Amino acid sequence: MAGGTPEGLGAILGEGPARRLILPSLESISGLLHAFTVKGSSPAAVLSASAGADLPLRTLRQVHGAAVEIVGEENRAPARPADAEDVPEGDALLTRRPGLALGVYVADCAPILICGPESRGLAAVHAGWRGTVAGVLREAIGALGEDFGARPGDLRLGIGPCIGPCCFEVGEEVVEALLDADRGAGACVLGGARPRIDLVEANRRQALACGVDPDRIEAAGLCTMCRGDLFESYRRGRGRAGRMAALIAWRP
Ligand SMILES: [Zn+2]
Repeated sequence: MAGGTPEGLGAILGEGPARRLILPSLESISGLLHAFTVKGSSPAAVLSASAGADLPLRTLRQVHGAAVEIVGEENRAPARPADAEDVPEGDALLTRRPGLALGVYVADCAPILICGPESRGLAAVHAGWRGTVAGVLREAIGALGEDFGARPGDLRLGIGPCIGPCCFEVGEEVVEALLDADRGAGACVLGGARPRIDLVEANRRQALACGVDPDRIEAAGLCTMCRGDLFESYRRGRGRAGRMAALIAWRP
């Protein structure tokens, strides 16, 4: 295992552009491929190293909302590389087609990968505080149920590296929005000179409210802002940071 193991739950695999973080519970699912790219790695190289073949990758024009896009259901036609005009707007991407990779881009927001081993539904979700307040994870779990017949209790969730409660200082308006959306979210707000919020916990609460089994939610537990050695951070880079991708696919 090149690159050593970071302090959180995940493990680092690969080198150079194929360097990536994986989570043990998703890695244990037969036929599933997932990865979180790290600073300096590329989604294409990571996918190719993980799958042993190049896979088509679908992404979204992310807008910090809660819209869900389902791909790969088009008459079973082969997935083609989408050009810029084709990339739909949204913050959660779903498929059940083998060999089609889903990706969301982040640099502090929480990337959440979901797998339904029985229903075969997969999702990649982009959840910053706005998407969390809008309920993007709830929408994705709902669509996995409605469109693919996934039971929430069957889903496995992996939450990748994102800005942690150690660093995510926010204004009072963000705290208010969070509490308006989830009255029980007080535990996700930490005090201090400025309030800080726990994005992972807020999304964990959202998943639990949907009926996801707490033992089937795994979080990397790594802060993008603290871990400049491994991750890009929008806040640390003052907006000039690169992006990292969270990727999920059924092996072809
Ligand atoms: Zn931190």
